[in-house]
Amino acid sequence: MAACRITVDEGRCAASTTCVLVAPDLFELPPDGDTAHVKAALVDDPGLIELAREAEESCPTGAIQVDLVA
Ligand code: SF4
Repeated sequence: MAACRITVDEGRCAASTTCVLVAPDLFELPPDGDTAHVKAALVDDPGLIELAREAEESCPTGAIQVDLVA
């Protein structure tokens, strides 16, 4: 089964919260934080992979990367 690794480049994140709105199971933005964090760095559920790719495409700064690892 395919799996994907999700990463956020904190240097590029502009804290837009888009990824949190698109995929709240995968991303969070701490109240006192200025960058998004990945809640699940490695996912193999097809639905979550699809959401991760949606977030990747939606990120206004291109900070999210989703890579196939399996
Ligand atoms: S969508 Fe991109 S810029 Fe916005 S919070 Fe998420 S990682 Fe940061």
